[in-house]
Amino acid sequence: MDLFDLTGKVAIVTGGNGGIGLGMAHGLAAAGAAVVLAGRDAAKAERALAELAAAGAAAAFVAADVTSAEACRTLVAETLARFGRLDILVNNAGTSIRKMPQDYTEAEWHHVLDTNLTSAFLCSQAAYPAMKSAGGGKMINIGSMMSLFGAPYATPYAASKGGIVQMTRALATAWAKDGIQVNAVLPGWIDTDLTRIARRQVEGLQERVETRTPAGRWGVPSDLAGVAVFLAGKASDFVTGTAIPIDGGFSIVT
Ligand code: NDP
Repeated sequence: MDLFDLTGKVAIVTGGNGGIGLGMAHGLAAAGAAVVLAGRDAAKAERALAELAAAGAAAAFVAADVTSAEACRTLVAETLARFGRLDILVNNAGTSIRKMPQDYTEAEWHHVLDTNLTSAFLCSQAAYPAMKSAGGGKMINIGSMMSLFGAPYATPYAASKGGIVQMTRALATAWAKDGIQVNAVLPGWIDTDLTRIARRQVEGLQERVETRTPAGRWGVPSDLAGVAVFLAGKASDFVTGTAIPIDGGFSIVT
């Protein structure tokens, strides 16, 4: 038995058409899984699919705005129609709006919470029946260093990412008896579109991260591939409800 072999498994990665999601999709595919990328930007998805195909992966794109419950149900239905099963769900889609707390509109607050937290709940709910009837499955929710720390420019983001950790624990307790493990991954600072914008908006961020991170560098999306494989495979069958920082040590220094 290979603890890390995902041959025959099928994964959905929301926001898998770029950044961290694509890094995780590469890991899952390299371990043998077929991967469904879900997102809104079809052109970005086409590039991601070409990358995955070049690596020999079975992959597909389903256009979905995961803030919509109906879109999440359709995403799962299309995955089942195309690949016949669903074993792994990575709730990765996310966004941020950086402002001081007093400056957010109500719509901006809801946009960040809906994209980062509600979407993960809706996709998990949509995936549950297929996993339960198959006798088990794996859900991986993407938190952040903002699941642990605060920042003046990240009130809704931090609320959503703190929520991811607590939602993960609640789902893990609810669905353990169904053979479904639910865990969170807390990436440190990773070089993606999201943080390229952050580095333009937050002065000194690039250097602060390099200085604080014991590994001495920003992460790259492929740094998240290994934990995705671990949490998606048999190796983690007795691991549930936890939140694993993948951060080059960022969260353990004072
Ligand atoms: P990117 O901006 O590169 O990726 C975000 C992805 O989310 C995009 O592929 C986007 O696809 C998708 N997305 C956003 N909104 C929606 C939506 N409504 N429906 C479907 N898909 C959506 O950023 P990252 O790769 O950095 O972020 C991925 C996750 O990792 C996020 O949850 C982020 O909060 C988290 N994270 C990132 C860190 C970092 O340092 N980069 C650190 C900690 C956590 P599309 O444009 O096609 O909709």
